[in-house]
Amino acid sequence: MISAPLSPYSRPTVPDPRRVALWAAARGWHVHPLAPGTKIPVRGCDRCSPGTKECPNPQYLQHDGHGCECIAVGRACHGVLAATTDPERIAAWWQRMPAAGVGVAAGPSGLVILDVDCHGGQPPEGLAELLPGVELPDDIAPGSVLDGRDALALLVEVRRATFPGCHPETLMVRTPSGGLHYWFRAPEGTVWRPLAGALGWQLDVRAGSSYAVAPGTATRSGSYTALGDCRTVAELPVWLARDLDRTGHRVRPERPRVVLPWRPRNMGSGYVAAAVEGELRAVAEAQSGTRNETLNRAAFKLGTLCEAGRLDRARIADVLLDAARHAGLPEREAEAAIRSGLVAGERHPRRLTGAAA
Ligand SMILES: [Zn+2]
Ligand SMILES: [Zn+2]
Repeated sequence: MISAPLSPYSRPTVPDPRRVALWAAARGWHVHPLAPGTKIPVRGCDRCSPGTKECPNPQYLQHDGHGCECIAVGRACHGVLAATTDPERIAAWWQRMPAAGVGVAAGPSGLVILDVDCHGGQPPEGLAELLPGVELPDDIAPGSVLDGRDALALLVEVRRATFPGCHPETLMVRTPSGGLHYWFRAPEGTVWRPLAGALGWQLDVRAGSSYAVAPGTATRSGSYTALGDCRTVAELPVWLARDLDRTGHRVRPERPRVVLPWRPRNMGSGYVAAAVEGELRAVAEAQSGTRNETLNRAAFKLGTLCEAGRLDRARIADVLLDAARHAGLPEREAEAAIRSGLVAGERHPRRLTGAAA
């Protein structure tokens, strides 16, 4: 159903978009219709479409697409937010819009799609911008990196990894502009976000709230075509997941704020009280591995205020110990860290001036 790479002599056959949409949905991918011939979502209803800068829609009512009632009743408003795997809804959409292309919403589909651009252009002058944060070999020949494919190849080399084409095999889609989309499954329980260019030059990531065009979709500039025989998606390789995490693509759940089981009473006012509260919270919420250091640093900071006569040393030692216990730090270890931090801090008394005094 999805077209294989075409020889220049064969006539392209464009799969029926409705079948493409149902094929994708059967894989658990959430689809939404794209305006015929384009790669942008269809226009929603009058109430939901802001229009463009040049041509704003006067009927548009400003609202948050999340939870918009149009989506609940099956309208294709708000692009990716309307994406679904429901075959009935899909059949109805493409019956009404038979020429609409197929978008696949990355986040709800559990996909992370590496978007490798191949549109030439001037590579960044400094190698540092090619793959930000990656230590590159010194012997890269100038002019050897021409597009995103080369940037990716370099990253694969530095990481001593293998990549689709070899292993793991995964769905690869050629875009009309000659780019490549590598489709991966997000590892269980992980959430990712798109960040254009953060991984490297001409390397983008489709994840979270962004979408990719399904293979088999034709646009006015050409078709999105699956390469080779592989139509399944492999799990995001570990080395690439690490690089995407490093470059800020991973969304980590916010840890609930620790409710301090005590109120730091008689701990000064204004700036001093806020400093105490902040340090105690940092200690109480510290992760294992950084707890001791966090505690020592907090004791140092508060020590600088003790000597300045702003805080009572014994009382501060007590509440710091409470916070350290809360973080699960062994008592002896905690006491030692507090003592050394306070002593060091007291050698550097802080003079509070202005509003902080
Ligand atoms: Zn609507
Ligand atoms: Zn709406």
